[in-house]
Amino acid sequence: VPTVSVFGIPVCKWGMQETVAYLTQVINSGVPHHIITANPIMMMAAIENPDYKAMMKTAELIIPDGTGVVWASQKGGEPVAERVPGYDLLHELMKQGEKLGWRVYLLGSTPEVIQETARRLAAQYPGVTIAGYHDGYFGPDEDEEIIQEIIQAAPHLLFVARGADTQEPWIAKYKATLGVPVMMGVGGSFDVISG
Ligand code: UDP
Repeated sequence: VPTVSVFGIPVCKWGMQETVAYLTQVINSGVPHHIITANPIMMMAAIENPDYKAMMKTAELIIPDGTGVVWASQKGGEPVAERVPGYDLLHELMKQGEKLGWRVYLLGSTPEVIQETARRLAAQYPGVTIAGYHDGYFGPDEDEEIIQEIIQAAPHLLFVARGADTQEPWIAKYKATLGVPVMMGVGGSFDVISG
């Protein structure tokens, strides 16, 4: 993966099309990948908190979600191709999943939001199986049960919306156990999808 260092964080230089093609290969390989959509809030967290930065650097792919990250890469003289917004990548992966019959698990947001998100994504992408969903308001004592549910559902994609400070460390911590090929934090995306 070609990267450019932005404040010490290796950001992928690819645009949307190459990113989707690469993640399709990842799904075929079955190797767990943590994809971080780097926005300014995460970059600030990485600059201020060495633990967050170290966690970010364990991700297999960091994509330039925001214009700030694109701008910073240009200042460094090694620009990334374009913005790859996490919300757009979610939809592009659903479109690809539509063609290839992927399974997706949705984790995060309130019970109402996640139920409506599952309903709308199932209607918009009937070729994708919503393999399961769960809200994002649970503590560490429930991690084990939810992880087992996700493993049983055997998804190709796991989207996690619990806020940047929670979702990325959670994916990083359980990446190997979850074993889902593509695991990505999606922040407020479910709130947008559910309307
Ligand atoms: N969220 C969640 N559990 C939490 C906190 C937040 O599931 O403990 C969800 C929230 O409902 C929303 C999403 O995470 O759908 C993003 O939340 P927010 O915008 O507050 O986080 P940010 O992306 O600003 O960090």
